Amino acid sequence: MTIPQLLDQRPVALLFSGGDSPGMNAFLRAAVRLGMNRNEVPVLGIMDGYVGLVRTVKQLEAGETSLEKLRRSIARRPGLLGLRVKKQHIVLMDHESVSGIVVKGGIELRTARSQEFRNPERRRQVIQLLRDLNVRAVIVCGGDGSLAGAEIMQRESGLQVIGVPGTIDNDLPITDYSLGVQSAIETLVRAVDSIKDTARSHRRVMVLETMGRDSGELTQLAAIASGAEYALIPEDGYLTSDRIRAMAEEMETSFKRGRTHSIVLVAEGVKMDKQTWESPAWVVSAKLAEAFRHGPYKDIETRASVLGHLQRGGRPAPFDSILAAEFAEVAWHAIAAGKDSGITVLQNGEYKLVPIGSPPASDRPARLQRLHLQHQALSSW
Ligand code: ATP
Repeated sequence: MTIPQLLDQRPVALLFSGGDSPGMNAFLRAAVRLGMNRNEVPVLGIMDGYVGLVRTVKQLEAGETSLEKLRRSIARRPGLLGLRVKKQHIVLMDHESVSGIVVKGGIELRTARSQEFRNPERRRQVIQLLRDLNVRAVIVCGGDGSLAGAEIMQRESGLQVIGVPGTIDNDLPITDYSLGVQSAIETLVRAVDSIKDTARSHRRVMVLETMGRDSGELTQLAAIASGAEYALIPEDGYLTSDRIRAMAEEMETSFKRGRTHSIVLVAEGVKMDKQTWESPAWVVSAKLAEAFRHGPYKDIETRASVLGHLQRGGRPAPFDSILAAEFAEVAWHAIAAGKDSGITVLQNGEYKLVPIGSPPASDRPARLQRLHLQHQALSSW
């Protein structure tokens, strides 16, 4: 593609920001393919999220490149070639560069967090850069922080900006599911399955720490899907020593009835009654062990594991690849119409674009509370 062709066609810029999640590559592929095959609009992939834009602005500022040179290198080094050049942060995506990635974890364009993008002057320069590249719309895929940044950019620039929820935390109430949640649940189910084998063999209580930041959605859904007996989530209030002791007593009752082991999922964001830098899984495990020492099952041991970033990686669940395609279609529908900014969502079975800042379609705290009670009823012996 020549430079005039690229600019005349008014490309769409696409970036990923914040924490990665499985399904983001599927979204990248879907966005590029729908752009090229259905809309005949090229997609500029931005490396490392907002960081890639800020780095480009700095290159221009320092005189390391000029706008003309930048446009030329984007047009001359498209696809895989551009992705390999370290100092090129904006890549004209082509078919080859998204081939085979629908089932791949991670993100070919990578993601990052950018403090500098919070600076209004930097954002002004970034917006100017997007205008200089004749960008017609910007797609931002990420969590609540990234979408907040997208909203600010939209307000300040008047550009069409489409936000795509991508986070394993499922903490964006505007959509029933974000990209990556189902994949993370699958990963957790597999982890619990393996841990259960060893828990059963040793008659142990295993405490597993899950991600989710301040939200317990991922932990609660994974507990239901995996059969883990306990889901300790931030929404349930402070996790006091008394609550942990009561849990130990409940486990002892179930041991009397024949249960041989127990699996506890504890969300990373759970609030402890005493401030501690220790990971919640270690605290819960130690307190349970202490409680067992004073009860009838003194031989019961506890072990803690922090499952950590393995929840963010791996092959996406088919649901997430489908969600990625649906979100891409909604985004392109809006871009083709050429006016509305907004966030792509799944609400009550419907994929659509809603204005940034819209209220959630359903009462999410009530849904979580219902799931929590359901899980308790499913888990008690
Ligand atoms: P995850 O939920 O997976 O952590 P996230 O998108 O919420 O992802 P954040 O670290 O909160 O991750 O935000 C990612 C980036 O979005 C920030 O590093 C920053 O560049 C941008 N951002 C967040 N909030 C703002 C804001 N208020 N103004 C401008 N940019 C912002």
